[in-house]
Amino acid sequence: MNDLSHQVFLSSAAAQTSAAVEIPYYQPVGNECALFELAYQRQLPLLIKGPTGCGKTRFVAHMAAKLARPLITVACHDDLTAADLVGRHLIGDGETLWSDGPLTRAVRQGGICYLDEIVEARKDTTVVLHPLTDDRRILPIERTGEELAAPKEFMLVVSYNPGYQNLLKNLKPSTRQRFLAIQFDYPNAELEQSILMKEAGIDLTLATRLVDIAQRFRQLKQHDLDEAASTRLLVYAANLIAAGCPVIEACAAALVEPLTDDLDTITALMEVVKLHF
Ligand code: ADP
Repeated sequence: MNDLSHQVFLSSAAAQTSAAVEIPYYQPVGNECALFELAYQRQLPLLIKGPTGCGKTRFVAHMAAKLARPLITVACHDDLTAADLVGRHLIGDGETLWSDGPLTRAVRQGGICYLDEIVEARKDTTVVLHPLTDDRRILPIERTGEELAAPKEFMLVVSYNPGYQNLLKNLKPSTRQRFLAIQFDYPNAELEQSILMKEAGIDLTLATRLVDIAQRFRQLKQHDLDEAASTRLLVYAANLIAAGCPVIEACAAALVEPLTDDLDTITALMEVVKLHF
């Protein structure tokens, strides 16, 4: 076990509730669960960096359920405005009503707000996070004049994929330095095999071969591929095979075609697949 785990105690209320709620399966890779719990206890915001499909979202869902907090997830995009996060006035039936955005809802409920792919959001949007991510822990709602103090159960978690990063799409240092940060990557072979066995119900022999193919593809990443085969795609392949799809077809549909449109690369990747089956 890791060093941090013994320092972490769930509150008894959280532990009781979590017994009743189904906790999504998550295979820990390092000390991330303990670190998350410490961040939650100490009311610190968390940034998770890592390639697509490596388990970031599952991890947050697992931790939210374990801590018995509601999880509010926002997939960020470049049109996301501060009002999309905080809320806006809506007109209906002749009256104007205020409607909370997901961030405000999470603050009011003492939930965990997860902003996925935060770098996609405009910089002026991420600035609304600033007063929530320092020791003030407040959310000023300009349009209503309200100033919400975040309860201790509120936690902000953001993620992004450094692989997509470019000079224009980067977090401002003044934003990123407000977060604890954890680097995620694909799990090692043994853990990834057990994830496939658990998620798709396949046996160890098949799981070993699929993971081995993914590892070969990942070595090619620098040369021919923008993104390597993710754990998510491996789970897709395993699910197809478990449902009766022929292995080669499953690998083509789940592990090869999603990675590239280049015909030569597809042929080369299929050669690797065929070597394994
Ligand atoms: P991300 O948010 O990093 O893009 P996800 O969390 O959606 O990726 O992971 C994709 C899928 O991979 C999950 O639905 C799950 O099936 C599987 N997965 C990846 N890592 C893990 C893990 N450590 N434990 C359990 N499942 C995992």
